[in-house]
Amino acid sequence: MPSPRAVKQPSLFTFGGEFRQQSHEAKYREAHFPESIRYIRLLFLAAFLINILFFLNDWHFFGQPHFSAAISARAVIVVVSIICCRMATAVQNFRQFQILGIAWGVPCILASAVLVTPHSDAALFIIFILPIIFYLALPISFPWTVALGVCCSAATLASYIASAAAAQNNLGLGLGMLTNNVVLALVLNRSNRLQRQEWAATVSAQAANRELSENRQLLQSILQAIPAPLIIINQETGEFLQANEAARRYLGDAFLLDPLALKKYFKKHDIIKLSISLQQHEQVAEHETRITMPNGSSRDVLLVATKAVIGGIAAIVTVIIDITNRKEMEQHLQLLASTDPLTGLANRSRFFSLATTEIKRSQRFGHPLTVIMFDIDFFKHINDTFGHEAGDRTLRNCANLCRSLVREHDTVARIGGEEFALLLPETDPANARILAERFRMAVEKLLVEHDTGITVSLGIAAVLPGETAVDAALSRADQAMYAAKNAGRNRTVLHGELPEAAGEAPPTPRL
Ligand code: GH3
Ligand code: MG
Ligand code: MG
Repeated sequence: MPSPRAVKQPSLFTFGGEFRQQSHEAKYREAHFPESIRYIRLLFLAAFLINILFFLNDWHFFGQPHFSAAISARAVIVVVSIICCRMATAVQNFRQFQILGIAWGVPCILASAVLVTPHSDAALFIIFILPIIFYLALPISFPWTVALGVCCSAATLASYIASAAAAQNNLGLGLGMLTNNVVLALVLNRSNRLQRQEWAATVSAQAANRELSENRQLLQSILQAIPAPLIIINQETGEFLQANEAARRYLGDAFLLDPLALKKYFKKHDIIKLSISLQQHEQVAEHETRITMPNGSSRDVLLVATKAVIGGIAAIVTVIIDITNRKEMEQHLQLLASTDPLTGLANRSRFFSLATTEIKRSQRFGHPLTVIMFDIDFFKHINDTFGHEAGDRTLRNCANLCRSLVREHDTVARIGGEEFALLLPETDPANARILAERFRMAVEKLLVEHDTGITVSLGIAAVLPGETAVDAALSRADQAMYAAKNAGRNRTVLHGELPEAAGEAPPTPRL
């Protein structure tokens, strides 16, 4: 999953702490607008209430020369504050908000200048307190805040100094007021910076989360759109982390919700083999295996696996390709390629490959292995007399009869037109002869058409120690079989022995 793009932190003015970029500042103000409105209304209301209290207090000075000016100035602040508090509800944007703040500030400053005319300690206290309201309590832009703060300081200080005859402290008061303004500007500057940095960090975190969630949704959509079953497995615990819809349909919820599914349904050596491959390479292109499904059936599958880190977890992304049908088709084709279509027996090539395996086994354990070859006598006459279909039927009957007489591990193959071969593991030539004779006599009873029968001639040869292929033994069995033919047919000859009826006239076909 791609990591969310890092959001660049917007830069701030060194002096003022506001965003250099107008658009950022506008967004910041917009985001804080409802809160600012609430706050400024509270400020106006507080100014109104506090000045009402002062208003009442001012009546103590009734009759003094300063009284009427002070009462008028106080009335200005009270009226302006309540009007602004009312108007704040109609403010739509920051610009209007700022105009309202200035509109409240200017009359209040002028009124305050009048109020501090008496050169009293209280007035001195007030002229140092008042700028704090503008610097820290009026959330308008930095330049206007500083302008109002400086104007307030200058106006009130000037009014305070002008009201006394002479004062050697005037310079000191001026410097004190300068210090007051510088400190307040610095505090506001720092507060602006911190608030904006925090807001920018929150905004960028929200953007990153949004992008992450979009990426997750994109990944989910891609995952679900993949038509092949896809599962994501925790590499350490073997639990399923994710599965797409195709996997859900293919494996079923019983499979996916089982925390031991991997161990239960996959073969142990497959898991070991896969994890070793994945340790060596990032990807396993094709791993053929068979999995057991929860309903007990088996499926042949091809696994394509790759390592990935998903959500900080080492995972294996695996695509499952079901090859059961392909495997069945392959097996079917293999069977067709190795089977004689007429009789259903093994064909010549299958006989040779099975013989090679059996020879290896017999040589390893020193067990006997014998080959019998037989050929139907005068078969041409069957075809000529009863037709080709009757000949085919005879071949099938002969094959079935032979198959019914041999053991499970013996192989009967049709290796030529009407020539057959038997591969008999764990059988020496003497026992092979017993089988051959039993078969020969059974064939004598086999009827082709009406009362017409057939006979077979058989040759027997053992696979000799040291032989690695069946060709030599088959050739010896063939020689023995032709010796049987020459000796008059319908008989069995063991390679190396003289046919029993050698020299006798060959029997005529029993047609
Ligand atoms: P022998 O006793 O010397 O073996 O005489 P034979 O007539 O059996 O021998 P030959 O080799 O002269 O004839 C074999 C016949 O088998 C010839 C061929 O037409 C027939 N044949 C071979 N394959 C098939 C088959 O698949 N179906 C049928 N119906 N006949 C086949
Ligand atoms: Mg023949
Ligand atoms: Mg033949």
